[in-house]
Amino acid sequence: TPNAGRMPSWIRQSLGGGAYGSTADAVHGPGLHTVCEEARCPNQGECWSRGTATFMLLGDTCTRACGFCAVKTGRPPLTDTGEPARVAEAVQRLGLDYVVLTSVNRDDLDDGGAGIFADTCRELLARRSGIGLELLTPDFRGCQEPAIERVMAALGPDDRLVWGHNVETVPSLYRSVRKGAKYERSLRLLEQAGKKERVQTKSALMLGLGETFDEVLEVMRDLRAIGVQRLALGQYLRPTRYHLPVREYVHPDTFAVYEAEAKDLGFDWVKAGAMVRSSYHAEE
Ligand code: SF4
Ligand code: SF4
Repeated sequence: TPNAGRMPSWIRQSLGGGAYGSTADAVHGPGLHTVCEEARCPNQGECWSRGTATFMLLGDTCTRACGFCAVKTGRPPLTDTGEPARVAEAVQRLGLDYVVLTSVNRDDLDDGGAGIFADTCRELLARRSGIGLELLTPDFRGCQEPAIERVMAALGPDDRLVWGHNVETVPSLYRSVRKGAKYERSLRLLEQAGKKERVQTKSALMLGLGETFDEVLEVMRDLRAIGVQRLALGQYLRPTRYHLPVREYVHPDTFAVYEAEAKDLGFDWVKAGAMVRSSYHAEE
């Protein structure tokens, strides 16, 4: 593959400054977790300096072990029922108008953790009505419908929600990249969530894992066919040498082509670029 060896110049770890310290205090003081840190996101310096972070609910231990992901795997501790209120307080302290909530996968819980997502939405809305809410959820294996209902019940009649769930890669790579996940199941979650009146759905892929251009276009078409409106495409970066290798550093020109294709297909929010992550500039 071209371009798989050295890190090209367009891959940049951002540096912290500005509000970085106060963001860190707001997150660490109450013992919260962020995907920024747990997944070793290269944008942490930039996002935290702008005073924004993506909260990771349900602890820092995941029941799955995806080949690309730096989050720790194991048996999670008991659910922390005080977490929703502490997240909402931290969001208030950061003064965020728009918040992205994600979580580890919790296949050990009957509701997949949906109750904690719902409680966190409730706490956030109670402190600030009209706050922009975006979820980036697991696939809720075996409990998709009740999970969606549970989250929707937390919203008031005028509240809207962006429901994100990342397909992450093309179906031919699921066995090595997303063990425990199924492409069809992920599509089903997005389709069902997107049928709710006040929900817009969103998904993301990491590129550079060995997928082909046509496979990516095929996934985009699948997502549009089930009504997904928002799409983020970024470069996969290997978090440690125990994770999957990078097969290709996708050129910025190629990202630009994907972006144009996505807009042609009718996505109305598209971000494509090496450093794009699903929560990157999500509020725009
Ligand atoms: Fe955190 Fe998302 Fe920014 Fe990465 S892109 S630092 S995960 S908010
Ligand atoms: Fe990481 Fe999510 Fe996979 Fe868990 S399910 S290993 S948090 S990508």
